[in-house]
Amino acid sequence: MPSTSASSVASLAKDAAQPSAERPVRSLGRQLLATYGRRLRRVMMDLGLTCPNRDGEKGYGGCIYCDLSGSGTGATKAGKPLGLQWQDGLARARKVNPEGPAAILYFQSYSNTYPDLKPLAGAFEQIKAWREEAPILAIGTRPDCFSEEAADLIAAQTNHFAEVWIEFGLETADDAVQERIGRHDTLANFHNACTRAGERGLTRIAHCIAGLPGEKPDGLLRQVDECTRAGVEGIKFHQLMVLRKTKLAHEWMNGDIELLKPTQYIQMVADAVERLPSEVVVHRLVAESPPEEYLAPNGWPSRAKVHSEIENELRRRGSWQGVATPRA
Ligand code: SF4
Repeated sequence: MPSTSASSVASLAKDAAQPSAERPVRSLGRQLLATYGRRLRRVMMDLGLTCPNRDGEKGYGGCIYCDLSGSGTGATKAGKPLGLQWQDGLARARKVNPEGPAAILYFQSYSNTYPDLKPLAGAFEQIKAWREEAPILAIGTRPDCFSEEAADLIAAQTNHFAEVWIEFGLETADDAVQERIGRHDTLANFHNACTRAGERGLTRIAHCIAGLPGEKPDGLLRQVDECTRAGVEGIKFHQLMVLRKTKLAHEWMNGDIELLKPTQYIQMVADAVERLPSEVVVHRLVAESPPEEYLAPNGWPSRAKVHSEIENELRRRGSWQGVATPRA
């Protein structure tokens, strides 16, 4: 069992990654370097599950932006068992970190705690053996799929891994937008799930999207404020992207959707980062998707360029993460 607890790991890294005028964002990369002396690589694990937005419990066909693989790899449905997913992912991670800790085990696709906990519990038995190479375990799910039992099961993994992250899709702080995008979850569910996870010492990471249809101009700032209120330890920012074989693709082809320009997105995220408490780790400033699935927006610079432009915008302003966090 690792000797370093999640809380001591976090405090170890805290000061070295403190946002400043020079390094305006507490990025995950900086946090990992400060904690592990290296940048661990995510190894995507796919259990081949589903979500209540696909099987009819709450809806069919998924959120308008979600592709057929549930925003994941689709590996299990393609016949690739968990062990093979790990071996291939670790081999890629080993190119960057040839020895020692190399990876973050990330259960990404669909809702990993739905429809029941058996697949995840079975996977946990298998992955314990991989904890030396992967000191961090991350589980993605919907807030409305995070029961007390799910929270207990995932919290038990803190006995085996140095850090256990739970990743919740917030995506919008406006319940009317949740309905507009066919997501059918609520802000109240997000807060309940964060409380449940926090009570068990899990590291909570929220996913936010900028530019959803129906979202108000201050939508991203509202998401950040709700994340602050919920006490999350990490956040991911995404721009709305149109992928093939999604409901959004139809809306976009019909001309019904207006997408953000990179300059708009850079300003929005810079504003959001200023408002985010300085201790929250920013896991992602901009999203990307496999080129074969991507339709729009077109003409965006590379992910690395947008990332550096957000940091440059903060430097231009002479500001950094946390300078505009509202006082409680
Ligand atoms: S909740 Fe997640 S997996 Fe389900 S349709 Fe929406 S984005 Fe896809």
